[in-house]
Amino acid sequence: MTRGPLRIVVVHPDLLGTYGDGGNGLVLLRRATWRGYDATLVQAPSHEPLPPGDLYCLGGGEDGPQVRSATELIEDGRLVRAVEDGAVVFGVCAGFQLLGTTFPDARDQPRAGLGLLDLVTRKGPGPRAVGELTALIGADGPPSADGAPWPKLTGFENHGGVSTLGPGSRPLARVETGVGNGDGSGIEGAWSGRVVGTYLHGPVLARNPALADLLLSWAVGESLDPLDDHDEEALRAERLAAARSAS
Ligand code: GLN
Repeated sequence: MTRGPLRIVVVHPDLLGTYGDGGNGLVLLRRATWRGYDATLVQAPSHEPLPPGDLYCLGGGEDGPQVRSATELIEDGRLVRAVEDGAVVFGVCAGFQLLGTTFPDARDQPRAGLGLLDLVTRKGPGPRAVGELTALIGADGPPSADGAPWPKLTGFENHGGVSTLGPGSRPLARVETGVGNGDGSGIEGAWSGRVVGTYLHGPVLARNPALADLLLSWAVGESLDPLDDHDEEALRAERLAAARSAS
């Protein structure tokens, strides 16, 4: 039985493709097609209007391209309208910061984000946060797709920005190892409705299939068949051991 169709859009890979987060779109595509969904993966360059989609992925990028991406997305308007119509949005690092209300440019001047998350990002006072990051999704995080307890999140962070949640956003997770949002709250990432942001690269959805399935279950509007995640579990075990030995 074919289910769907499901359109997964990687937003501005020419600007937000620095950290390999485009892989998140591929993971979502595979996990959807393995389950029989008629899913397509669309690369959406910044010089074209943003195409229609059910699930949008934004990746990490450098300060200048991040400003250009945010400016294009605000002018285009589709991403905000899509969220109002129920689309799922997943942002990583620069893509997380620009979903908030403001973030700093390369000269440390505040720039407007999309306001899809109640979140302000500033330049951090200390050195850039670089390294393995692990975090735990708790009671204020989104419920998992299969109702099971959340496995630990694992990924790699690389950012100078420090992010603070406002009352309209909830913490995605609590930092176990690493920095995360970095504002002293111990929080990693944010979520509100069907919009999720995180500092985790990896790509994070390759390292955390449960997070991929949360986004997919929101996008398709039903519970998902289980998959054999044997290989993904081996990757997780290796990366979680690396984080333990680095901390
Ligand atoms: N330029 C942003 C920062 O340094 C985002 C970096 C990234 O996407 N990895 O905070």
